[in-house]
Amino acid sequence: MGIPSERQLFIRERALSRFRRYAAIDTRSDPESRRHPSSEGQWDLARILQTELEAMDDLTVELDDHCYLYAHKPSRRAAGPMALTFCAHLDTSPALSGRDVVPVVHRSYAGGTLRYPDNPDLTLSPEDSPELLKYVGEDIVTASGRTLLGADDKAGLAAIMTALEYLQTVDDWPHPELRIVFTPDEEIGEGADHVQLEKLGAVGYTIDGGDLGELEAECFDALKAGIRFHGHNVHPGYAQNRMINAAAIAARFVADLPAHETPEHTAGREGFFHLTAMDGNESQARLELILRDFDADRNRRRAEILESLRETYLKRYPGLDISLTVAEQYRNMKEVLDRHPDVLAMGRQAFEAADVRVIDKAIRGGTDGARFCFMGMPTPNIFAGGLLFHSLKEWIPVVALQKSTEVMLHLCRLWAQKPQADTRFHPSDSRHDDNRG
Ligand SMILES: [Zn+2]
Repeated sequence: MGIPSERQLFIRERALSRFRRYAAIDTRSDPESRRHPSSEGQWDLARILQTELEAMDDLTVELDDHCYLYAHKPSRRAAGPMALTFCAHLDTSPALSGRDVVPVVHRSYAGGTLRYPDNPDLTLSPEDSPELLKYVGEDIVTASGRTLLGADDKAGLAAIMTALEYLQTVDDWPHPELRIVFTPDEEIGEGADHVQLEKLGAVGYTIDGGDLGELEAECFDALKAGIRFHGHNVHPGYAQNRMINAAAIAARFVADLPAHETPEHTAGREGFFHLTAMDGNESQARLELILRDFDADRNRRRAEILESLRETYLKRYPGLDISLTVAEQYRNMKEVLDRHPDVLAMGRQAFEAADVRVIDKAIRGGTDGARFCFMGMPTPNIFAGGLLFHSLKEWIPVVALQKSTEVMLHLCRLWAQKPQADTRFHPSDSRHDDNRG
């Protein structure tokens, strides 16, 4: 069952107009906020989406107290009872301004350099983003040069909304029970914090990846370490053999970590130690690190390196006290997805049906899906189409909006054919985590 070309055009135009509308709303999350959601703009967008969902047939819509927007749609012509979730996030990165975003559509990209109307010094070329060369002849959307575009993840929202619209426009497309969720605060690692688990499906897909074709089934294993140094301060004129300078020792401790295992020296499947904060004086000092790897055992070994350094320093500096705490933030979702091979296999079939070549990618970070996996819903990540996100040059080819919508429609059709599809499992433990970084 394919999607006729005139309907593909309908999908493309609808997804683009939705995307432009959603991109204009400032939904930057705020890492300093202690509220949930962290910013008011996310409510504004959630309410707009709520209104649009309520205008569709056959949907039960709920916007809850924490700004999670749920939509439920009963199955149509499905072979068995199974609920499928699509998820995208409402917020955009706080890294850059997201106020008054003006999406600019560059029709039929001819190759070469694109310019931004509100920032004459800023250009976008294949040197910045070699992927551009794949989209010669395609329409490209950028912001106007003063803000991010917010394709991460307004593109995901637009695609899911367009898929729902398609399902109500076309009455012959089978789908299982759908449980859609739009989450707030993904960019600050809190996207899964307040989700209502009972509203999720047996299987989920986040629409939050990058380039058209990306299918992500792996993410980092993530630990966070805090190290406290308690020294001994005396007047510097009389400090000989008495002062234990906590800050100076903390600096040496950092210098003893493997110099090339840092974010700026690693790529692909390599892990790292990343110093995220450091402060102190003679009496007290503090280091904060995050530890990342695709392999959980290798990441645990990083924590052990910290512990053995701690022991060395205790011996080297009598009188110094050092404490180390290590906490888990999130885990590599591969562990869960390996136990549910159907979830990725269906993903691959859906890509093929939508005529999209799969780009397998391991995320050097986390997603809401990684946390959903360990909450009991296997959830890989599908491209939303944006590139260079979190930057002024962020861009998306319009065809990506169309193709991610088509992939979801094929996932609907494929899962609807499954007579038995309750892949839900109960995780052995539930840990509090966040998916920062
Ligand atoms: Zn995202």
